[in-house]
Amino acid sequence: MAVLPILEFEEKIVETVDENPVVVIIGETGSGKSTQLSQILHRRGYTRSGMIAITQPRRVAAVSVARRVALELGVQLGEEVGYAIRFEDRTSYRTCIKLLCYGTLRYLTDGCLLRESLSNPELEQYSVIILDEAHERSLNTDILLGLMKRLVKTRSSNLKVLITSATLDGVKVSRFFSGCSILNVPGTLFPVEKLYSTERTTNYVKSSLRTALDIHVREPPGDVLIFMTGQDDIDKMVSKLEERIQNLEEGSCMDAIVLPLHGSLPPEMQVRVFSPAPPNCRRFIVATNIAETSLTVDGVVYVIDCGYVKQRQYNPSTGMYSLDIVQISRVQANQRAGRAGRTRPGKCYRLYPASVYQEEFLDATVPEIQRSSLAGSVLYLKSLDLPDIDILKFDFLDPPSRESLEDALRQLYLIDAIDENGQITHIGRTMAELPLEPSLSRTLIEANELGCLSQALTVAAILSAEITIRPTRSKAKERKRKQPFSNLPDGSGWGDHIQLLQIYESWDQADYDLNWCMDNDLQIRSMKFCKDVRKQLSQIIQKIAKGPVDVQSSLKYKKGEKDYQKLRRALCRGYGNQLAERMLHHNGYHTLGYRSQLVQVHPSSVLEADEDGQLPDYVVYHELINTSRPFMRNVCAVEMSWVLPMLKKLEKMDTNRLSGGAGVSKVCEPMKEKLMNSSTKEANDSKKPDS
Ligand code: ADP
Repeated sequence: MAVLPILEFEEKIVETVDENPVVVIIGETGSGKSTQLSQILHRRGYTRSGMIAITQPRRVAAVSVARRVALELGVQLGEEVGYAIRFEDRTSYRTCIKLLCYGTLRYLTDGCLLRESLSNPELEQYSVIILDEAHERSLNTDILLGLMKRLVKTRSSNLKVLITSATLDGVKVSRFFSGCSILNVPGTLFPVEKLYSTERTTNYVKSSLRTALDIHVREPPGDVLIFMTGQDDIDKMVSKLEERIQNLEEGSCMDAIVLPLHGSLPPEMQVRVFSPAPPNCRRFIVATNIAETSLTVDGVVYVIDCGYVKQRQYNPSTGMYSLDIVQISRVQANQRAGRAGRTRPGKCYRLYPASVYQEEFLDATVPEIQRSSLAGSVLYLKSLDLPDIDILKFDFLDPPSRESLEDALRQLYLIDAIDENGQITHIGRTMAELPLEPSLSRTLIEANELGCLSQALTVAAILSAEITIRPTRSKAKERKRKQPFSNLPDGSGWGDHIQLLQIYESWDQADYDLNWCMDNDLQIRSMKFCKDVRKQLSQIIQKIAKGPVDVQSSLKYKKGEKDYQKLRRALCRGYGNQLAERMLHHNGYHTLGYRSQLVQVHPSSVLEADEDGQLPDYVVYHELINTSRPFMRNVCAVEMSWVLPMLKKLEKMDTNRLSGGAGVSKVCEPMKEKLMNSSTKEANDSKKPDS
């Protein structure tokens, strides 16, 4: 096998790193940045004074690359080479001791490194920090870039920072780091012929399928990489392609195997793409944009590029997420095409005309920081207590909009994480230490006070484990029912959080029996992961909570009261910035807060109407998502009396003070009215003799 390009530059790399605190390394995908750079620096003694951290924006890449490097070094994963992703740390305690003598390579997600810097802002355990895949411009990597800029000043003598990228505008990053060195590692890409469609496809799954079969029948051997937008498309494509290939006339072409590749695939399925095809067999790899740069699949000669990607987009003026299928950027299109030329000249079938590529595609993908809710990141930055930090002026490579930062400040204020002057509160500090989004950490803190921590831990674990507890697809279809359980106890009508809790409760009562999961069509792997996450969260909260923690309740699941009042109250507090009120004459809702808009309960919700067919007057929601209409996903029924204090807080809110800038306080009209009514009612009540 050919030597990876980066290894031919070993001397040059070491020389440049020796002489410079920050180096930008630009190299073609597959040139060996993720797997080899850390090993080069390890060989050259950089691990004598600390570990090497290599960050990855994607969990699957952190795990996969760490596995690969452990294999190459012939060591046990979790020992000299480890990985850390949220809720899964494969770096043993022994490693930490060993590291002092032998040195360790630690692959971790950019989010995990950010979290580590919370307890250790100087990140002293590391002698080298490599921010890998910086071209992905993930939210956390962008924040790390800003933090590294500070850190290289304070630790200039004993820290090296490397920023690696396949496509990044090196000059821009170098300028950000006051003109640091840029090293270009030329790759060995073979020419790739680009074949455009004459018109934009209306059904990219169908067009990709047709193109894939054409290649299989007409083209010489070589694997085919097909880019789809998400798991659903991938599943569809895999089954259709398998079916069509089977139906091809026997002996008419070589054998074929079809492999899916996406972030939520179990690890044993992911590694299958790294094994070469058996003799006389063509592999079809159907992937998300994960195969653009994060994971390099060898043997690909043909690429089918539908020209789309699924992108999550947050709108700070509506507080709403949308999951849109959008056109890729030119940089992405070129990355996709490049995957075909790694072993020999290849072909890229672009299912769009050349004019679309030239005139419609953006130059580069919009960085995540400019299309995400920033509440979690702002809370995190606030909790770092950096002396001169002003969130609105933080040094970002590409700053987010002021609107988006103010939106984050308002959200944090409403859930008590910052005070009216924008200063972090003690609640905010505890929240920042929990590896959860702000609303869930706030819920846990409140639940601890109210005595329902055990239940809240379960809900937080399920919602944050990024898995879905749902019946397996085929069975669900078979039964054609909305809820996986028909035998849940009373109370599931309070909403989705409560139902998720009840599912877990039932499993707990079945002594975590795995057969029980199968009987109820639940994914065993997901349920086990949930249990593990719950345990971890419970340990973290015991460590960090300032007041006493209901340890007993946090460790072992304890069944609660029937109407789940306490838990719903805690959720109401945690989601204090995500409230909605039912409209007077129908079952639609409008959101309450500094913006009011019409929203519906998502059709998948289990929220129940009363005997009169009315849904609850007030709900909190986990997120607003704009699909065909604006929908609230994961809702929980709450009560007016719990909501009022939050509305009052909102009324007092002054964005100007929160941000220290020129903002305005915004309270939506329906809420003003409500507050006025409630103040009049209070005034009247106080006039009553016995009040
Ligand atoms: P880059 O970071 O520059 O994109 P990598 O270091 O990820 O490059 O990849 C270098 C080589 O190692 C590629 O040929 C890739 O296929 C291979 N490789 C990376 N990860 C794995 C893995 N988990 N299993 C097998 N091969 C891998």
